[in-house]
Amino acid sequence: MTDVEKRSDRSPVPQDWTYAPAPESTEIVELRERYGLYVGGEWLDAKERYTTLSPRDESPLAEVAQASEADVRNAVAAAHDAFGTWSTIAGSERSKYLFRIARILAERAREFAVLESLNGGKPIKESRDVDVPLAAAHFFYYAGWADKLEYAFPNRTPKALGVAGQIIPWNFPLLMLAWKIAPALAAGNTVVLKPAETTPLTALLFCDVLRQAELPAGVVNIITGDGSTGAALVDSEVDKIAFTGSTEVGKAIQRRLAGTDKRLTLELGGKAANIVFDDCALDQAVEGIINGIYFNQGHVCCAGSRLFVQESIYEPLVEKLKKRMATLRVGDPLDKNTDVGAINSREQLDRIEELVAAGKDEGAEMYQAPCRLPERGYWFAPTIFTNVAQSYRIAQEEIFGPVLSVLTFRTPDEAIEKANNTPYGLSAGVWTEKGSRILWMAERLRAGVVWANTFNRFDPASPFGGYKESGFGREGGLHGMEPYLELTA
Ligand code: NAD
Repeated sequence: MTDVEKRSDRSPVPQDWTYAPAPESTEIVELRERYGLYVGGEWLDAKERYTTLSPRDESPLAEVAQASEADVRNAVAAAHDAFGTWSTIAGSERSKYLFRIARILAERAREFAVLESLNGGKPIKESRDVDVPLAAAHFFYYAGWADKLEYAFPNRTPKALGVAGQIIPWNFPLLMLAWKIAPALAAGNTVVLKPAETTPLTALLFCDVLRQAELPAGVVNIITGDGSTGAALVDSEVDKIAFTGSTEVGKAIQRRLAGTDKRLTLELGGKAANIVFDDCALDQAVEGIINGIYFNQGHVCCAGSRLFVQESIYEPLVEKLKKRMATLRVGDPLDKNTDVGAINSREQLDRIEELVAAGKDEGAEMYQAPCRLPERGYWFAPTIFTNVAQSYRIAQEEIFGPVLSVLTFRTPDEAIEKANNTPYGLSAGVWTEKGSRILWMAERLRAGVVWANTFNRFDPASPFGGYKESGFGREGGLHGMEPYLELTA
């Protein structure tokens, strides 16, 4: 009898290496049946509501408010009322509140992670290891600046702007909230924030954190609703709009605010180039490509959705990529083994399917990793397209899904030319062992962030933002606080 056979007497040896399900329990999350609007530290009722779903099985989770124009005006008035006190208390006091929020977020991390995956569809290992810790880190980071504004901007006098209207998308609901609220509060502003319609629940749970932290009433107000609520916020008596979302809506907001004295920052779409040279560490690059496009189902503004491969390594790289794709586990977002979760909404799934059909029609070759998709809910298998021309829609438009377009290049000049051939300019990746080439490329790539031999790295101290149709203004770091301040000499 072999050792393995002996052991199997007591506990059976697995027949293959598939993972057993490891679902995270949802018991930690206590959902209310219906949520109101969090205004002036109170929960207010709204006339209209809608149901928010879980994309993993389309089950209803809760009813949330659809804020009307009057509700928006009310929330903005509450923020104006709170501004006088909040902007004049000592910066060290504001720091304490921000630290408190950060600590409570860290303490309640599991609850937030489960709810984020339940409402948004992203794998629990991502909400647990990326979204929630990074959100807390942003509050910690900006807590550190709140009492040091005069050192942060030497020889200038920093003054809070007033009320900031903040509108965020559905792909990183809690993290985008942190990117917006933390610097605004540190700088002494008050806030009215509108989460995206499909993913309001972690923002609503965050109101509970604000109460726990005893943040003064009206400093942060959270209103839910669709685009019409966002538009009403843009038109309201705010002093600044901070918007993250699609380029189309960003442009509409910019037109709307032209000629007003409201400040504006826009964090919009992207179509990042991930550029792989033949001298790179190939296996490491494959991991970076996979992470770059399949992280959060590709619902990432800076996703590496255009892969540029140097011709000499095209075949081995694509082969390795396909092999690695076959190991991705697609399924229940709450399973700790899941790599690729559910698509956020039916609408987003339709958009992905439409662009994938256009890719096939235009002549690109599609490959999908073999996987069994759940019957209920919204799903799309990890996909790559080869034989893609620069002009194809899948190489030009933001798909915002787990779909990669593979193109080739021969020289660094050609890589730059092709990579920059897009209306967007949010991020890019370069894979090479030559440091000099990394610097040469970074200087020429028209992208707000350039990662070298890695991808999708975020840090609260590091500014993030775009060129061209990816928007203007920066979030993160000191740069992220500037748009919330009037800096006089
Ligand atoms: P979206 O533009 O449809 O919606 C974003 C937010 O704007 C939502 O809260 C929505 O309700 C609101 N909105 C819709 N119409 C509005 C209007 N007329 N006036 C005011 N607000 C309005 O975008 P989305 O589909 O939720 O998000 C995906 C987009 O966000 C992608 O293009 C992605 O690249 C982008 N994004 C960018 C960044 C970044 O930092 N650059 C980060 C995350 C997402």
